[in-house]
Amino acid sequence: MNISIVGAGYVGLVTGLSLASLGHKVICIDNNKNKVSKINKDEAPFYEPGIDELLKKTLSKKTFRATEDLEKSVLESDVTIIAVGTPTVNNNIDLSFIKKVSMQIGKALKKAEKYHVVAVKSTVLPGVTEGVVAPMLEKYSRKLAGSSFGLCMNPEFLREGSALEDAMQPDRIVIGQIDAKSGREFAKIYAKLSAPKIFTNLPTAEMIKYAANGLLATLISYSNEIARISESTDKVDALDVWKGVHLDRRLSPFSGGARIKPGILNYILSGCGFGGSCLPKDIKALVSFARGIGVKTQLLKSVININKTQPHQVLLLVKATLGENLKDKKIAVLGLTFKPNTDDIRHSPAFPIIEELLSEGAKVIGHDPMAYKKNVPQKLISLSIPLVSTVKEAIKNAHAAIVATAWEEYAKLNPQLFKKYMKQPVVIDARRIYDKSSFLKNGIIYKGIGL
Ligand code: NAD
Repeated sequence: MNISIVGAGYVGLVTGLSLASLGHKVICIDNNKNKVSKINKDEAPFYEPGIDELLKKTLSKKTFRATEDLEKSVLESDVTIIAVGTPTVNNNIDLSFIKKVSMQIGKALKKAEKYHVVAVKSTVLPGVTEGVVAPMLEKYSRKLAGSSFGLCMNPEFLREGSALEDAMQPDRIVIGQIDAKSGREFAKIYAKLSAPKIFTNLPTAEMIKYAANGLLATLISYSNEIARISESTDKVDALDVWKGVHLDRRLSPFSGGARIKPGILNYILSGCGFGGSCLPKDIKALVSFARGIGVKTQLLKSVININKTQPHQVLLLVKATLGENLKDKKIAVLGLTFKPNTDDIRHSPAFPIIEELLSEGAKVIGHDPMAYKKNVPQKLISLSIPLVSTVKEAIKNAHAAIVATAWEEYAKLNPQLFKKYMKQPVVIDARRIYDKSSFLKNGIIYKGIGL
């Protein structure tokens, strides 16, 4: 099939490349000229395992390309997927990108001669596809959604860091449909995938995405609340607590006689909080949506609050070792991305940690294996801290080192390295990636979230 995707960001580009490798002909449309020309020159605009290879392959096979020309791309395709951003501004979802592209797609559809399906893949609140996208498409195309053209809502569940794998082998495919024909025609793009397909109405598909993200965020904040209680007891180690909890067979069931370790367990662990482009904004948007329809969301509000204050727990650990006065103390922050295997720094907990340290007068030095390899994001440019390219440079003569992202590179570091290079070997493990006994045995002053 011929597929056009509006928005060549994490979701649009990954979806585009995976659909192209399934045998479709895909065009990604983006209004960022620089991004489009980079993609067409075989340069993925962000880091994601496997993306460079797949981009090269699909470009050379001519099954994928990027463009700025939305109208032509829509008219040349059978399906148009909307994958633009839906940020949260002042705690409310900002639909300006969605509205703009709905208008543009509507104008193109006016000229379309054959049946076309539009699908919203961006995360939008229940009612947006039906109440915002459909009317705009109809207004500008002068055609009726659900009869002259199809309309679907197809939420995306990919995880940055394993995005291509998730897109090629999804757990499930959720298709909200305005009518059965829309869903049937749209589902053809996934014909080669064996994942279970859930066909439902448009708002239910929208809600599935928020419910899934809300669950993950709730597990993380719950784990962090348990960490705070554990820390305050002086004797409980939350990491051991989670090991004990994880072994419940309802969380780690047996399969073929052996235990399996489901991915959900990664969300039942204490750390410095969740970040990224989805969980923080989506939970806030859900809370404000609920408020708008008269529902109190006490649990979700607490989830947000715990997460907002979790980076401060790291500062408390720093002060517990270095004392209250951090002025001129050199502190290395290892890890700037919101999680490993991505270069995405959006809403990373590393930033509130850095900001608090700077406001206390500390001299912060940053390191990340990936965050500034491809593109140096504006947030990093405007941050007034030196960024260094090796861990050794970061920790050299430092009074403390904070591990803010659980990169494999950091997990492999041994305690001697910290001892050798630091002014005093204080390691604050905000992701609990180290074996505390080996660090303590080697003379490290080791503190960790939940310890
Ligand atoms: P992104 O910011 O990386 O990409 C959005 C792209 O849309 C940008 O390249 C931007 O230039 C482009 N764009 C904006 N307006 C445009 C217009 N008028 N015409 C053409 N292009 C335009 O965003 P993302 O991370 O890919 O997220 C997209 C959506 O998917 C969001 O709703 C997000 O919540 C959702 N989502 C994201 C993830 C994730 O892990 N990033 C996972 C699941 C769902």
